[in-house]
Amino acid sequence: MNNVPQLFDLTDKISIVTGANTGIGQGIALALAQAGASIAAVGRSSMDETRALVEATGAQFHEIRADLATIAPTASIVEETLKTFGGLDILVNNAGIIRRNDAVDFTEEDWDAVIDTNLKSAFFLSQAAGKHMIASGQGKIINIASLLSFQGGIRIPSYTASKSGLAGITRLLACEWAAKGVNVNAIAPGYFVTNNTTALREDQDRSAQILARIPAGRWGDPSDIGGAAVFLASRASDYVHGTVLPVDGGWLAR
Ligand code: NAP
Repeated sequence: MNNVPQLFDLTDKISIVTGANTGIGQGIALALAQAGASIAAVGRSSMDETRALVEATGAQFHEIRADLATIAPTASIVEETLKTFGGLDILVNNAGIIRRNDAVDFTEEDWDAVIDTNLKSAFFLSQAAGKHMIASGQGKIINIASLLSFQGGIRIPSYTASKSGLAGITRLLACEWAAKGVNVNAIAPGYFVTNNTTALREDQDRSAQILARIPAGRWGDPSDIGGAAVFLASRASDYVHGTVLPVDGGWLAR
């Protein structure tokens, strides 16, 4: 018989969270830390705020400065985590960007930048982490997908392609690695109040249209994601593979 609180306990687990300085990544790092995990926080900006939040929980924190616009740092991120904490159990591919323009005007630069960060780096960081996880017979990878993993959207062609691709890669890695003890899943946040949605929220008409469609009647807060992340990072999800879990206030149900 399983002890349910212990199923969600992440004590002694080592995690990497990309883009952990702000927004959803910060919310996830804090939730994993509250469940007991050590946090290797990866990003290109200062992680001081996240460090303070994580260390206040009593969890260990290590900052890794890396620019995920290319895959150059992916192997060394895993090596540095292993060297610092002596293991790696959880990878959260959260770092991501968005570029907005009409499809007819969309540039190759805006296409490549988004695909490289959101999809290519997430895959190759998963590959680097997966090698270690497969060798140790266990691991949890969580990709931060989007409603645009399910829907088309407008004016964000490379973002929709990247998040639809990330859902596909989540399923592919799950099929290859499930029998090796590695769970690969994704979370699809709905509309959250972060830097990613500043432009949307500043457009009053669009912002009101979005809010009217959310059954929960409010935008998401980064703290709304933590429970799903802890679930997918913990033993509670040991038989969950290749799913994309919406945390969207009911958006997709409408
Ligand atoms: P955010 O506050 O803009 O966070 C994005 C994070 O990714 C930041 O930490 C950012 O670092 C990091 N990042 C971007 N490019 C990077 C690079 N080249 N190298 C390293 N780190 C990089 O927005 P967010 O909403 O929390 O986004 C987090 C994830 O959630 C993204 O994958 C996004 O697509 C996804 N998402 C968001 C929503 C939403 O409504 N907000 C909905 C669905 C999915 P800097 O601060 O240094 O730029």
